[in-house]
Amino acid sequence: MTVDPVLLAGAVVLGLCIGSFLNVCILRLPFDRSLTRPRSTCPSCKQPIAWRDNIPVFSWLWLRGKCRWCHAPISRQYPLIEALVGLLFGALLFAYGVTFQAASAALFGTLLLGIAITDARHYLIPDEFSLGGLVIGMLLSLGGGVPGFLEALLGAAVGFALLWVVARAGEWVFKEEAMGGGDIKMMAMVGSFVGWRGVLLTVFAGAALGSLIFIPLSLKKKRLVPFGVFLAVGAAVTFVFGDAIIAWYAHFLGGEG
Ligand SMILES: [Zn+2]
Repeated sequence: MTVDPVLLAGAVVLGLCIGSFLNVCILRLPFDRSLTRPRSTCPSCKQPIAWRDNIPVFSWLWLRGKCRWCHAPISRQYPLIEALVGLLFGALLFAYGVTFQAASAALFGTLLLGIAITDARHYLIPDEFSLGGLVIGMLLSLGGGVPGFLEALLGAAVGFALLWVVARAGEWVFKEEAMGGGDIKMMAMVGSFVGWRGVLLTVFAGAALGSLIFIPLSLKKKRLVPFGVFLAVGAAVTFVFGDAIIAWYAHFLGGEG
């Protein structure tokens, strides 16, 4: 498939800018700080960051990862997230063209990345990502998104109910909170983007991935499981390959071939 290079450049630049905004969300939402005030400053010397030092990826490279004024190092996370979202938007344009599905995937992918990083760093999932994402998912379904409105509504309900049951069961078995409310709200959001079958696939993939990667790690040292990270990966896989996996599974169950 050929993609207009101007359009591709536009998608990547848009992704870089959204990635830059996502950085602000990741930095501030876990602490309930406003996204618009105050303006971004250097955490070391408190100098406001001028627009020319705030250009996604390029400013970080130009300043060699240091503050212009006090030369304190600036985290690699900023340019990495900007580059990742830029690449994601470019790849989605290749995969889906200029479609509603590409726009849905872009929003969904950005939300999942935000959730994965805040959960990995702070063991929490801001409501702005989960509940805000749920509103976005429902609106997209009304506008002709991937699942229709009823499917999105059912997906959100199943996502919420399934994780709620798992959380209560976990509490009962382990006598402590094994899964937070953030995961429950997150799966309602995921359901609005991938429907109820997608929710089941996401939870299955997330649990499989989580046990593969995390159980060996947590045997050495008891620690919290940022389950949202694995659910986010499962949800992304489901969005892209879910229909194919579910069709294969139905065929498999049917016993044909
Ligand atoms: Zn500084």
